[in-house]
Amino acid sequence: MSKAKPPSKPTAVGRAHRILQGMTAALKRGRYGETTRLFKEGQACGAIPADDQLSQWLEKTVGKRGTNVLAKAFAQTPCFFCKKGRESCEECDGEGRHGEAMVCDACLSLGTTRCGCCDGSGWVGIDFVPAVFRVPVLTIRTKAAIERLKALLEQPLPEPSRRNCSTNLKKYGGALLVANSLLGVLENMVTAVNQFHELPPNVRMRTDKLVETCVRTATKAERYVRETLDRMATATRLMAESATPESVERSFATNRAERYEMLVGSEDYAGTFLHHPFLHKAMQEAQEHKKAKPAVGDARAKPRKRRRKQSQEKAEHSNDET
Ligand SMILES: [Zn+2]
Ligand SMILES: [Zn+2]
Repeated sequence: MSKAKPPSKPTAVGRAHRILQGMTAALKRGRYGETTRLFKEGQACGAIPADDQLSQWLEKTVGKRGTNVLAKAFAQTPCFFCKKGRESCEECDGEGRHGEAMVCDACLSLGTTRCGCCDGSGWVGIDFVPAVFRVPVLTIRTKAAIERLKALLEQPLPEPSRRNCSTNLKKYGGALLVANSLLGVLENMVTAVNQFHELPPNVRMRTDKLVETCVRTATKAERYVRETLDRMATATRLMAESATPESVERSFATNRAERYEMLVGSEDYAGTFLHHPFLHKAMQEAQEHKKAKPAVGDARAKPRKRRRKQSQEKAEHSNDET
């Protein structure tokens, strides 16, 4: 019998080789989107195995270092539908208003809103990412977003002033969109982590810790968002006061101020692009957990409370008996 290899194998190996070469070239140019697109193409044509056999292939073909590089490439693959998590508002064609003076609720009159496909994160959805890379991808994205959020929170916003209210308003709007995009990354982490059911205990511990950091950072960022909205309200009030009485511009500025004031008092910004339901729920749970926990130095409070509860129960019991 001949020692010739089966014809399909060299073809698959050759295809895999060509794809790996293409990915290496794309990586060298920092083109992460192209790298991962080639990877997915390789999977689709069978040159790279499907998700369930990918771990072994990665180990054999690209090793630990190559796997980490690929995880980084998937982490930095941009969303296919937007630019940096934002898109021009479809509701108002990017004008920021309806008719002459009505606030556009979809974009809060900024003309730009978050991309619905990536929650404003700007990164490709986790469904595109092969299962083996999902935890590292979310970890890379989340850690980077936390660092960027921390840096953003340290940058002071300009105080609203009558002279610069238009320029300031643009700065507030920009800051709001950036903060919101980064919160979108945290929202994606909190959402996705709930869907991982079979993580090894050490990985689960790390992701749980990261979610805790997300919640702490998001709580601070949420205060920043509220403060930014407050400044937007003040700036638009000042714009209204400076505009010609009974003009369209005065009405529009007043309407904006009212909308922003309402949002400052809103609990979770439901119905707006600032709403991150899973993150908000996680923040609420953390708050409740904190309240339920006795404060340090209050160690005696618990037994005392328990004793009081026991004596109450005793009293009720004796009442029942009488
Ligand atoms: Zn709009
Ligand atoms: Zn997007």
